[in-house]
Amino acid sequence: MRILIIEDEKGIANFLHDGLTEEYFAVDVASDGKAGLQMALSNDYDLLLVDWMLPGISGIEIVQQVRKVNPKIPVIFLTARDTVDDTIFGLESGANDYIKKPFHFSELLARIKVQLRPQNSENGFLELGPIKLSTETHQVFKNDKEIILTQKEFSLLEYLMRNKGRVCTRTSIIEHVWDIHFDTDTSVIDVYINYIRKKLELDSKELIHTLRGVGYIAKEDS
Ligand code: CA
Repeated sequence: MRILIIEDEKGIANFLHDGLTEEYFAVDVASDGKAGLQMALSNDYDLLLVDWMLPGISGIEIVQQVRKVNPKIPVIFLTARDTVDDTIFGLESGANDYIKKPFHFSELLARIKVQLRPQNSENGFLELGPIKLSTETHQVFKNDKEIILTQKEFSLLEYLMRNKGRVCTRTSIIEHVWDIHFDTDTSVIDVYINYIRKKLELDSKELIHTLRGVGYIAKEDS
């Protein structure tokens, strides 16, 4: 899952970047409104964290622009403003939630998880045949035995499982699992798929299927 932070206070932006990276997110940061809007419109983010008061273009304007092309993307405002009127205005502008500065990282993380809770899961668990993946604790089990994956392996498997039964193109995988510093060689996806298959003891025709020239699809064998 990939998040864009649009925040001009460097300290807060760095703190959020590091905290969210530790929580297995791919994270990009923009430090002014113009750059933030451009990034939000040109990449396929899973969630936006937007500061209200930004140089250039305000957080409200960014959300209004992004909503025109991407009505469903979850947006959380970071704001120091806290009057009731401001809160209502913020939510009416299209944000899904807001958090007042200063805030505890754990509270923000909980709010992010609410927005990104997978629809097809029970208690945050995604299932694919004998494989269970917890989006909460980042654990993976096969037939109830825990399998230890690295952060990237986990994020890639999570993306495929969130989209179970749907084709995941190479471009969409890169967009949702890697951040903006990714260097365009998509063969890295195949390398990570091989690591995952090896650790989960799956052959190439089991559960995670290769679509030659297109990408991958996670689906239960019928
Ligand atoms: Ca600000």
